[in-house]
Amino acid sequence: MDYGQRDFSAIHQRLADIVGPQYVTDKPFVLRAYSRDFGTMPPSAPNLVVRPKTTEEVSRIVKVANEFRVPIVPRGGGSAQEAGSTPPPGGGITIEMLRMNEIIDIDEMNGTVTCQSGITYVSLMNTLEKRGWKLGIAPSGAMAGTPGAHISRPGVGWGNIKYISSGDQTLGLTMVLPNGDVVRTGSAANPHSDVFFRYGLGSDLTGLFIGAEGAFGIMTECTLRIFPFPERFYLEVYKTADLDSAVSLFRDLAINNLVCYISVPVIKPGELVIFHYNVEGDEEDVDYRIAKIQGMIARHRDMECLGTEGVRKFWDYRWFLTGEEFKDGIAGAVNYFLPFDKLVNATWEMKQIMDRHQIKTYVQQMFPEPHGSEHVSLMFHHPDDMAERAKVWDAMQEMMDRALELGGSPYSKGRQWAPYLQKHMQDTGYWRLQKAIKDLLDPNYIMNPGVIGL
Ligand SMILES: Cc1cc2nc3c(=O)[nH]c(=O)nc-3n(C[C@H](O)[C@H](O)[C@H](O)COP(=O)(O)OP(=O)(O)OC[C@H]3O[C@@H](n4cnc5c(N)ncnc54)[C@H](O)[C@@H]3O)c2cc1C
Repeated sequence: MDYGQRDFSAIHQRLADIVGPQYVTDKPFVLRAYSRDFGTMPPSAPNLVVRPKTTEEVSRIVKVANEFRVPIVPRGGGSAQEAGSTPPPGGGITIEMLRMNEIIDIDEMNGTVTCQSGITYVSLMNTLEKRGWKLGIAPSGAMAGTPGAHISRPGVGWGNIKYISSGDQTLGLTMVLPNGDVVRTGSAANPHSDVFFRYGLGSDLTGLFIGAEGAFGIMTECTLRIFPFPERFYLEVYKTADLDSAVSLFRDLAINNLVCYISVPVIKPGELVIFHYNVEGDEEDVDYRIAKIQGMIARHRDMECLGTEGVRKFWDYRWFLTGEEFKDGIAGAVNYFLPFDKLVNATWEMKQIMDRHQIKTYVQQMFPEPHGSEHVSLMFHHPDDMAERAKVWDAMQEMMDRALELGGSPYSKGRQWAPYLQKHMQDTGYWRLQKAIKDLLDPNYIMNPGVIGL
């Protein structure tokens, strides 16, 4: 259905009654700003943008969307690349979560933070750091990125090996379901408790929403693990020409749980791999790890240390390191996880596809996890260069299809991966179960329809 043809004035009024007229709009220039994310998928504008402040407001907004059978699309900072926060073709209501930016509680006794889901990571982390705490995982897109989105994707970032993913640091959620019901997961499912533990009381319903990208509901609050701010960070940068050797080192460092994080920002197969590893902890622990790591690196021929970064500088500027690459324009992204033994082959295959499509500017990267790595291909183009965008788009289709054939798990799916998830998975029990859950929770298909292929 093309909602652009529909009269939204009654819905507009109902939403204004909930949030106040200043927090809902149908102004075309605002709608346009919400018509895309940071990726290269075609734009699609909403008919209304609404900006709630509380869980109760979100619940009432969702009930209105259900009553009028209009899609509702949660959006944080819009910094993802797979168009999960872009309305489906035809439009709908974008519910923008950035006003939900309160830190509700830093529980230093039990080592948790509870916040609204629309706070930016930078804001959350700055507050925690002033109190001597840190998160395990945060995206390097932390200036705009929100926990509501990062947990929903589920996100990875600084701390991948030690802390794994944003899902792994999540203890409990407050979710608004497609019918407007409010559910608290984790130990807070017991009305006499707050969140301090994820499991127990029944099945792990927190996990149901991790990775669902808003298809099963809107996250309004989350409780995350926090960790004492380490005494020391250490970081070294290396280069090598040997991709096989580099991947086998990443595997050894990860399996032996020696590093906090490995970032591989440059991979030119056959020519150059640049990576850095970072460790954190108290002085003694960091010294022990560095000695073990350097011993392992020494067993790999052809690895040259480029030095240690100014570590405090690195920590303070870590949000800007990834952003550097985007100087060449927006990027089509094909990002997915693979086990260690498949990474080298996948890197060559993705390169061959991008070269065959004559992509002008691309990078390949890895962000290792404990049992494999996120494999990243970013193909840059100027937003107005439609000829290059068409080439990028064609290459992306082939790469997503091939990535799933290789056994890849897409990191974030949004609308971009939907056709390929359907193609490769629709005959599985997993797919049927996801569909059944969607049918049960969201019979009118209003909750971010189309993401993750549902
Ligand atoms: C320079 C740069 C670096 C990046 N580095 C990383 C990185 O290191 N690691 C990483 O994981 N990502 C990274 N990203 C991607 C992105 O910034 C993060 O994943 C971020 O957490 C997304 O947050 P957002 O609020 O901008 O998401 P959005 O784009 O607004 O939303 C993403 C998805 O989440 C859904 N969603 C949003 N809010 C909610 C909610 N409250 N409830 C339910 N669903 C919701 C949306 O519908 C959409 O499907 C990077 C991006 C950029 C531009």
